[in-house]
Amino acid sequence: QNTSRAAQYLTRFKGAPVGHFVGGEFYTNDKTFTNKTPVDNSAIGEISAGSVTDMDKACEAAASAFPAWRDMPGAERKRILHHFADKIVERADEIALVESMDCGQPIRFMKQAAIRGAANFRFFADKAAEAANGLSLHQEEHTNFTVRSPIGPVGIITPWNTPFMLATWKIAPALASGCTIVHKPAEMTPLSAILLAEIAKDAGIPAGVWNTVNGFGQTVGKRLTEHPAIKAVALVGDSATGRRIMAQGAETLKRVHFELGGKNPIIVFDDADFDRALDAVVFMIYSLNGQRCTSSSRLLIQNGIKGQFLTALEKRVSNLKVGHPLDPNTEVGPLAHQEHFNKVMSYMTIAQEDGATTKVGGTDRKDLGEGCYVSPTLFTDADNTMRIAREEIFGPVLTTLSFDTEAEAIAIANDTDYGLSGYIWTENTGRAMRMAKHVESGMLWINSENNRNLPSPFGGVKSSGIGRDGGDWSFDFYMETKNVCVAH
Ligand code: NAD
Repeated sequence: QNTSRAAQYLTRFKGAPVGHFVGGEFYTNDKTFTNKTPVDNSAIGEISAGSVTDMDKACEAAASAFPAWRDMPGAERKRILHHFADKIVERADEIALVESMDCGQPIRFMKQAAIRGAANFRFFADKAAEAANGLSLHQEEHTNFTVRSPIGPVGIITPWNTPFMLATWKIAPALASGCTIVHKPAEMTPLSAILLAEIAKDAGIPAGVWNTVNGFGQTVGKRLTEHPAIKAVALVGDSATGRRIMAQGAETLKRVHFELGGKNPIIVFDDADFDRALDAVVFMIYSLNGQRCTSSSRLLIQNGIKGQFLTALEKRVSNLKVGHPLDPNTEVGPLAHQEHFNKVMSYMTIAQEDGATTKVGGTDRKDLGEGCYVSPTLFTDADNTMRIAREEIFGPVLTTLSFDTEAEAIAIANDTDYGLSGYIWTENTGRAMRMAKHVESGMLWINSENNRNLPSPFGGVKSSGIGRDGGDWSFDFYMETKNVCVAH
């Protein structure tokens, strides 16, 4: 049933190429590239390869639309953005099916992701009316107060791992702040972004407030980060891309916000709740195909329970169901695209060369067809010098390290260039608090899976990012603060 609905939704992409959405109008270019589904690597349509001229038009459209959107009362922006969220909910089924086929994520997660996209809009919409409010600071002879105003047109650059949800996560606070946007979706997974643009038009978001340009990072992405009308760039992507964007935006002094890669530790102590910790270890790396920035790709297991824990883990990983992303029973779908599949598979060889043990998996799943399927993989007997312990593999691949003491766990956890998230499993509150202080990461979950709370800050340290999203942190990025000092 899912397959036939997906086929119905995808038919429309087989005709004219998917184009751009600029100044309220959809249009296409003659120059295109082929979009393939990772399910079987077959073509599911052509995508317009935007040029620098297309990006310039989009940035100019965002600049022209900015004053009216900025000056619209926050309550009215709130109404429009809620209307937009309603329309996401109406099309959630279509969004989930298209997204699964475009990026390989199992349907069981994508329906939730579509609904969460709507929730992102509602959350930030509700804050639109108060976003300009600042602080009031009284002195004997002066009163200082602050007001905030939207920074201007902004660039939003998103990756292919969960494209729909991540686009909404970035675009919602930008629009709620009063910024206009130019979105550059990942070239590998462009379909849900064009659905978002359709919904924007349908929901009555004024022309030019929302613009989408498809194409490659090194052409349209680069131009977006260099365009003088664009005042800030929010990127979700690789750390190397963050470095490039920072350099590209230097000339025009862009404000940047980066959500980048991770090599996140999940640290399980001897005294942890064994079954809950085991569930969390499995969920946090094998769900969403391991293509999740906050996935816990390093298991640090204390030696007292190592044998017992790894035996139970091996059994769980061996039983994960790999399959077609539209099968509701599928736990791990195909990786997002062939190039990424090749990258993940290369680590199967690297692990052997480095001397780790492949306890489970380590192979492709070509028995499932020509798609980008890999076996969920568990590496053991690893140490922190190995590439499988240091580099972001970004697939359903877990590297296991072990430790004796708390100090050793902290040293291993921090011995990485990354610092996005961490997970601690212990029943000892004092230890949990010490770990919370010493583990270098932007986010830490204690005795919990990745539970996202929209008002809380989200982001990384070290090579995992710059800045925080969530609650008022998002508004702080998309707005300028002005101080006004009044003499009494
Ligand atoms: P990527 O960096 O290759 O691409 C991200 C986006 O940047 C794409 O739209 C791409 O076209 C664009 N881009 C590439 N080069 C550019 C340039 N020079 N100028 C402007 N834009 C450019 O990342 P990816 O491979 O698509 O996504 C996977 C990465 O994203 C992983 O590292 C993952 O950890 C990270 N990620 C991080 C978070 C987070 O919240 N920290 C969330 C999801 C994904």
